[in-house]
Amino acid sequence: MKLPKYHPRYESLKIRENLVKGFKEGYVAINGLIAQGRGECFDYLFNEKTQNFAAEAERAAVALLLLSKSPVISVNGNVAALCGREICKLAKILKCPIEINLFYWTKEREEIIEKKLRKFYSNVLTEKTKKIPNLDSKRANVSEYFYNADVALIPLEDGDRAEALVKMKKNVIAIDLNPLSRTSQNATITLVDNIVRAIPNMITFAEEMKNLSKDELERIVKNFDNKKNLKDAINFLKEKI
Ligand code: ATP
Ligand code: MG
Repeated sequence: MKLPKYHPRYESLKIRENLVKGFKEGYVAINGLIAQGRGECFDYLFNEKTQNFAAEAERAAVALLLLSKSPVISVNGNVAALCGREICKLAKILKCPIEINLFYWTKEREEIIEKKLRKFYSNVLTEKTKKIPNLDSKRANVSEYFYNADVALIPLEDGDRAEALVKMKKNVIAIDLNPLSRTSQNATITLVDNIVRAIPNMITFAEEMKNLSKDELERIVKNFDNKKNLKDAINFLKEKI
């Protein structure tokens, strides 16, 4: 469908179109469309804008990724459909590999996503020889690099897996519009923002911050308080309602 740009819900409809296209191409799970609906509801309440608390978290997340010795970015079907190209750009700036992880895993879905990502970026990890402890199903399968990574950026992640990664003592950066979800509550840094804004914002921050000293980056991370940030997001929702 051709969406008229003047439509008041143009951006939101465009996102839906991208997901439906991904579904038709065989790599977005039908359940992914439902997950987007849950996110949209929160985004509506955040005025579909990056609020100050989210920008602050995005800056801290970039600082943590720049400080990391072995960062990794996890990508699922929704992430590939909504910002595949941008996530590759971010990974390139951070010199960081990407790994595909699917809640509703099929080999076919994984291969389509891999092909899509490889158009923009070659550092996509595929050799999964390790298992995340305390997690069932194929979601537990990861590469050796992922298994040992010190920081994992996990956009639109399920609560179980986020929790299992925190238990492995990784620093976990979540992107999740629901500040109350288990993923949001368990992460080291939570970006309560739509991924379609969060990743481009992180690219801008990464370009600005990549030459900062270790001390400056550490100060940014140290001054960030995730519990307070989540409280700010929840208070924003309360005020809005
Ligand atoms: P949890 O498993 O953490 O308790 P959940 O079961 O409610 O959370 P899932 O279905 O596992 O949620 O994952 C979807 C999450 O992703 C939701 O919290 C939703 O708000 C969020 N989400 C969906 N679309 C987007 C988006 N475009 N940008 C950011 N977050 C999104
Ligand atoms: Mg869940």
